Amino acid sequence: MVWLLLPTNSMDRGFLWIERKIEGPRNQQIKRDKQDWNAEKIRIKTIKHFIWIVLSFYTGITFVGYFTPIRELIDLIMQLSLGSWEWFWVIFYSFAIYGNAGWLREQVCIYMCPYARFQSQLLGSQNDMATIRLNEKRGEPRGSRKKGINYEEQNLGACTDCSLCVQVCPTGIDIRDGLQYQCIGCAACIDVCDEVMDKMNYPKKLISYTTLSILEGKKTHILRPRIVFYVALLIVLTLGILYSILTRIPLSLDVIRDRNTLFRETNEGLIENVYKIQIINKDTQSHHYQLRASGIKGLQIKMDTQNIHVDSGQNSEIVVRLQVDPENLKSRSSNITFMLNTKKGNINIEEEARFVGPTPR
Ligand code: SF4
Ligand code: SF4
Repeated sequence: MVWLLLPTNSMDRGFLWIERKIEGPRNQQIKRDKQDWNAEKIRIKTIKHFIWIVLSFYTGITFVGYFTPIRELIDLIMQLSLGSWEWFWVIFYSFAIYGNAGWLREQVCIYMCPYARFQSQLLGSQNDMATIRLNEKRGEPRGSRKKGINYEEQNLGACTDCSLCVQVCPTGIDIRDGLQYQCIGCAACIDVCDEVMDKMNYPKKLISYTTLSILEGKKTHILRPRIVFYVALLIVLTLGILYSILTRIPLSLDVIRDRNTLFRETNEGLIENVYKIQIINKDTQSHHYQLRASGIKGLQIKMDTQNIHVDSGQNSEIVVRLQVDPENLKSRSSNITFMLNTKKGNINIEEEARFVGPTPR
């Protein structure tokens, strides 16, 4: 489940991590890819793709588990008796994840992710906005050198031109050329450059998360109108989410009128409508529920069972018949309300519906 909560980039990183563990570092992978196919290459590639497919399938099941109760879903998969739509969505999501995180990777970030297109609008003035950038004053001119030499005497900056920052970049850009729209801020270039700086005994943070003003030795303005607006927006959204969590009703009620017959007249001369009621218990405990209906004088509710019991996380469907004396009908179609509550009365929900009858005399 946790896997699903990770952003695409993290999922991509998970696939990369598996690839590195099985295939070794990037230069080893490039070397192997150029080799002719042999038993070792087939073995390594098969293991990698097998693990990727298992992981993608697991994620696909988790996605579909948001819409179909997960325990039921896993049981059905084990028995190979999943419905065709559920199979479709499990395979669709698995394939999408395998394709995106295993094959497309940075192409998703560059060409498909809308964030890249509007990030410059969000950032505003580059002087005060923290982004990933190279300290050009310290780093340039770049060039290779031996460890331990005084590079300044050779008119060089701290950048050894090792190109590791480009090699690790998931979108394949060179951050030394300045901020580019493809940068997803993953900070992989910062980590690898810090390692290089460590090995060369240079101070770290040649590439860092910083502002242009800081790099130029000027003051960074934190309280800017754009930042105040973003903070206010974030507070409103957080409050909205909190409100919806706190007022969430752990119960759902769906009412569907029987479409085969508009209404029928019983032997007692009452007008009857039939409804299919679906109850979903979203609470962590099972409950006994009571169902009532109102909206027309003398409305009677008839059910096959008076004991509506739904386990936690499960749903239940019941057929309900509503009957009323035609004298009490004021129009052909009347508004009615179904009210469902736990027997303790602590969880309540209502749902509007229509009651159809003959034209009143
Ligand atoms: S990793 Fe650092 S030292 Fe190496 S090329 Fe990139 S910026 Fe220069
Ligand atoms: S933060 Fe660095 S590694 Fe990550 S996308 Fe941007 S430039 Fe590439």
